[in-house]
Amino acid sequence: VQDQFEVPLAPLTTLRIGGCAHRLVTALDEADLVRAVTEADRAGERVLILAGGSNVVVADEGFDGTVILVRTRGIEARADGSGVALAVAAGEPWDEVVERCVRSRYAGVECLAGIPGSAGATPIQNVGAYGQEVSETVEWVRALDRRSGEVVTFPSAACGFRYRTSVFKGSDRYVVLAVGFRLGRSAVSGPIRYAELARTLGAGHRAPLTAVREAVLGLRRGKGMVLDPADHDTWSAGSFFTNPILSEAEVAAFAERAARLLGPGVTFPRYPEPDGRCKLSAAWLIERAGFTKGYGDGPARISAKHTLALTNRGDAKAEDLLALARTVRDGVREAFGVELVNEPVLVGVSL
Ligand SMILES: Cc1cc2nc3c(=O)[nH]c(=O)nc-3n(C[C@H](O)[C@H](O)[C@H](O)COP(=O)(O)OP(=O)(O)OC[C@H]3O[C@@H](n4cnc5c(N)ncnc54)[C@H](O)[C@@H]3O)c2cc1C
Repeated sequence: VQDQFEVPLAPLTTLRIGGCAHRLVTALDEADLVRAVTEADRAGERVLILAGGSNVVVADEGFDGTVILVRTRGIEARADGSGVALAVAAGEPWDEVVERCVRSRYAGVECLAGIPGSAGATPIQNVGAYGQEVSETVEWVRALDRRSGEVVTFPSAACGFRYRTSVFKGSDRYVVLAVGFRLGRSAVSGPIRYAELARTLGAGHRAPLTAVREAVLGLRRGKGMVLDPADHDTWSAGSFFTNPILSEAEVAAFAERAARLLGPGVTFPRYPEPDGRCKLSAAWLIERAGFTKGYGDGPARISAKHTLALTNRGDAKAEDLLALARTVRDGVREAFGVELVNEPVLVGVSL
């Protein structure tokens, strides 16, 4: 365990925003991580768990407590008749895990290439992209329950996985220590579900894992969704808003409003949810409400490559980014009566 004081948090986040941590503890193995959290909890300190910093907006005032940085490493693979079981330490960089799986011909996470952050954070918001979500391959999650002080293992069914959420999101009760994945042993992917990816691959509905990974990385780069320090379009927390999920009645009201605003022939992307509700596209709503790529003239702007990413152009403060987020959220509400919700975790700030 390394212990430091008054450490700037901005360089530890992909937005490069946020003041200092009063204290920063770096945990290099699981025992360290459990000990650091337990001791800080016993001392009654405020605690922030931080891993890749790719899904947080930290206040300009920083964090007046202990930040515990998850830097635990280790991957174990065990092949059996039906596939391979992978046990991954929380601090492993996710994209490296995907790369290793693709190289080893373990199928099931290849569409999730290029997503920044740690493996341990992936179950928290059920990370997903290009038609895959980790909930499809997570077999268990080992976590420290800060309430009881015990280490518990959640089977996948107990994780409460839904679109961009789980029992771990929005609560600081659990610290994810390791994640177990069950993957297929195959050099080709399962059916490609995402139309844009299928078109890019130009293949039937399955493709070699390496080709899927390359195609996903290419598409993501075009949208500024692969980290690149030289490209301010990637100084973001990924998608800032989740796609809103509406009931049937709400969709009908929305459709009427959209027709009034954009003309009677208007069509909009909609994706049915298993529970009968309907997911709309946040990007479509934002664009039709008048906020196009590159919107803004201050230090925080919408990415020039992706409507959903709010970006730091170099010296943005948390308040600049949040002001932009409020403008977009309020504009969409005024135009369509739909309330957008932020995806990143807000630390010491609110929308
Ligand atoms: C360019 C870019 C593209 C992105 N693309 C996608 C995408 O395609 N799909 C997608 O789903 N997301 C995407 N994201 C969002 C982000 O990468 C994921 O949410 C990622 O899983 C966050 O991991 P992290 O380690 O950076 O978490 P952090 O930002 O460090 O933490 C996020 C939250 O999780 C908590 N946390 C982190 N680790 C632990 C742990 N071990 N135990 C308990 N709590 C923990 C933190 O306290 C915080 O509340 C993108 C982000 C960026 C910047």
